[in-house]
Amino acid sequence: MLLGAHMSIAGGVDRAFDHGERVGCDTIQIFTKSSNQWNAKPLSDEEINQFKLKQEKTGIAPVVAHDSYLINLCSPDEENQKKSINAFQIEMERCRILGIPYLVMHPGSHLGQGEEWGLETIASNLNDLIKKDSAPGGVMILLESTAGQGTNLGYKFEHLKTIMDLIETKDRIGVCVDTAHILAAGYDIRTSEGFENVLSEFDSVIGLDNLKAIHLNDSKKEYESRVDRHEQIGKGFVGLEAFRYLMNRKDFSRIPMLLETPKDKDNTEDIENLKLLRSLIH
Ligand code: ZN
Ligand code: MN
Ligand code: MN
Repeated sequence: MLLGAHMSIAGGVDRAFDHGERVGCDTIQIFTKSSNQWNAKPLSDEEINQFKLKQEKTGIAPVVAHDSYLINLCSPDEENQKKSINAFQIEMERCRILGIPYLVMHPGSHLGQGEEWGLETIASNLNDLIKKDSAPGGVMILLESTAGQGTNLGYKFEHLKTIMDLIETKDRIGVCVDTAHILAAGYDIRTSEGFENVLSEFDSVIGLDNLKAIHLNDSKKEYESRVDRHEQIGKGFVGLEAFRYLMNRKDFSRIPMLLETPKDKDNTEDIENLKLLRSLIH
């Protein structure tokens, strides 16, 4: 299986490979810029070269990018929506420059304007963004399944499907499933049979071919809580059986699976979680 974790880029984007290699990642996820700021300094040639060199040296692949939490492509506030579009465009460019194939995004929050309006607004903005970034080698955008807090969209597979159907360039759109989020959203993955059923539902609504990345998180909050709180693997409401099932889906062996669990600055918990996950493979 392709296992890894979200890694910090403090000190430079290339540093994520050092951390990833140290804890034993096959694959990593990064923010290509600070996740809680709108602006970022453009990447220098030096930074880009270092990133590519380190990737080659460590052999860690693929790298998955995650977008900033500030971005909301369906913000009812016109100013904020415009800011989000610009910020997302910059994130797409940074992925292209760094050779990152996937950019995970939370679909957005409609803030009272309604789900249908939200989903259509997101799709329309993504279509414009993809058009502006149409040269070959562009990043594939992965819509992440969410827990459905507040007015967040993406807590039903149907939401993701609605957006995907509206995207004109199908090879630029895919899906990332987060185990903590789907449990909180009301998909019962706690047993092998449950997980199997959820994946069949995913297959019939979205199509398993569109599943391009998985976030491996246990959940501090219970089934159907609609609250997004990550927990160490096996210590939350998802439970080990779900992860054992996932680790043995041989047809997922090329899908990057990434931890986003709480950790200290030395990534100690990543080492433990990766060891545990690998021990579940028979
Ligand atoms: Zn996410
Ligand atoms: Mn996630
Ligand atoms: Mn989350």
